[in-house]
Amino acid sequence: QLRQVIQIMEWHLTEKELAVRLHAGEIRLTGDSNLLYQVWMNLVTNAIKYTPAGGTLSIAAHVEGQQCIVTVTDNGAGIPAEQLPMIFDRFYKVDQSRSREPGSSGLGLAIAQKIVQAHGGTIEVTSTVGEGTTFTVTLPCHPNDID
Ligand code: ATP
Ligand code: MG
Repeated sequence: QLRQVIQIMEWHLTEKELAVRLHAGEIRLTGDSNLLYQVWMNLVTNAIKYTPAGGTLSIAAHVEGQQCIVTVTDNGAGIPAEQLPMIFDRFYKVDQSRSREPGSSGLGLAIAQKIVQAHGGTIEVTSTVGEGTTFTVTLPCHPNDID
């Protein structure tokens, strides 16, 4: 599924000259694949939107015990520490000047968080302005979900 997201976004990635690193074995996540797809799509779209040309996105997935851990990292704009707690709020955008931009409603992360929570998981963020951002999604998964 992550590979699918990257394939779909490939055009944006080449246009912006972003490199993508994908580190993931075959992990099949249990859950609503349409909903989880929206989570990956929003995280990857954000990473592309907020990373200048020439940047790198790293997407990694691995299994740790009973949990699947997916990280989406970019080396883009970053988010100021004082705003980090708010980015999962509905309609919250760090840069309000983007508010008129089409396709930027500030809802993406609020929806992603609801979806992840509905699957019994968590979504966390760490970020440094000027260095980049990492989103970590942890979802419960069973050992036999791994191919
Ligand atoms: P939508 O997802 O609804 O199209 P959006 O991308 O602006 O709009 P969210 O995905 O909820 O909204 O993200 C909220 C805000 O968090 C963004 O407007 C942006 O300011 C900040 N943000 C999210 N991801 C990143 C990132 N990878 N790097 C820097 N800032 C980010
Ligand atoms: Mg978004």
